[in-house]
Amino acid sequence: MNALALPPDIDRRVLRDESMARHTSWRVGGPADLFFNPLDVADVVTFLRALEGATPVLWVGLGSNLLVRDGGVRGAVVETHGAFDALERIDDEHVRCGAGVACAKLAKQCIKWGLGPAEFFAGIPGTVGGALAMNAGAFGGETWRHVISVATIDREGVRRERPASQYRVAYRHVEGPPNEWFIEATLRFEKRAGVSSDDIRLLLARRKATQPIGEWSCGSVFTNPPGDHAARLIDTAGLKGHRIGGARVSEMHANFIVNDGTAKAADIERLIDYVRASVQRAHGVTLNPEVRIVGEAR
Ligand SMILES: Cc1cc2nc3c(=O)[nH]c(=O)nc-3n(C[C@H](O)[C@H](O)[C@H](O)COP(=O)(O)OP(=O)(O)OC[C@H]3O[C@@H](n4cnc5c(N)ncnc54)[C@H](O)[C@@H]3O)c2cc1C
Repeated sequence: MNALALPPDIDRRVLRDESMARHTSWRVGGPADLFFNPLDVADVVTFLRALEGATPVLWVGLGSNLLVRDGGVRGAVVETHGAFDALERIDDEHVRCGAGVACAKLAKQCIKWGLGPAEFFAGIPGTVGGALAMNAGAFGGETWRHVISVATIDREGVRRERPASQYRVAYRHVEGPPNEWFIEATLRFEKRAGVSSDDIRLLLARRKATQPIGEWSCGSVFTNPPGDHAARLIDTAGLKGHRIGGARVSEMHANFIVNDGTAKAADIERLIDYVRASVQRAHGVTLNPEVRIVGEAR
């Protein structure tokens, strides 16, 4: 696929057939036709406007909640990490944060500013854009509890400011105006004297004790059903250690599927289906994937 009429400066930076395995924390996924990591908003606007109207566009952050199938992504992928990286305190309690900022960086900077609670962001290995799309959360904290407004951009490159009230937000679920992506958010935290980087270290240590950190995964695969934990249901269905190809249900945390280094996306997807069917059989509960599955099967 060709990106039409791209200025040479941008054209040079558009990757063709870029392996998405390099851009996802599961380290699997086939090639994207076009892959673009913009410098800034003006850069991505030029890129979007130059694409043929029917070209599908997928935005990704750090690919930490994304299963890209082995046939890859038709159309264009825009990667925000490294772009949209502004992070500033705009007054006592408010922070303006670009969508490409890593959640861990936001957490650390809030500690320096004496703002919180933002420590929970430290263990989420994605971008703020991904956290906005997912309503990411941990240890009782949740992204959208802090959102005052967002800036978005659409397929034509039109930028809008939208108050949080224009979004329907629930546990790992965000619904807003369609066909727009996040480029920035204004977040509100409380002034909190006495929070320190020790608080972050403590949370990260708790994670390390209970999750297979360091192995290739996408974190929790399924959302927790009301009143229960997906990990408990998967564990008691006897699925810890169950393997398909190079994909395995983690023995440490049953809601994690890890890639042993040889997995194809198809192995992971088949294991997701197998776990769902087994939990349904064993407990009569339907688990819903938290991870986003995109692209074409091979
Ligand atoms: C070890 C590990 C631990 C994890 N722990 C947690 C946890 O505690 N809590 C939790 O909530 N999640 C957790 N996750 C999952 C993941 O980190 C979060 O969902 C994170 O918010 C995803 O961010 P990302 O930038 O990687 O998004 P991606 O994976 O790149 O994308 C996820 C979705 O967001 C969309 N998206 C990305 N950027 C934008 C944008 N700018 N505008 C619009 N849509 C966009 C994508 O199209 C996709 O649908 C964990 C993952 C791993 C690997």
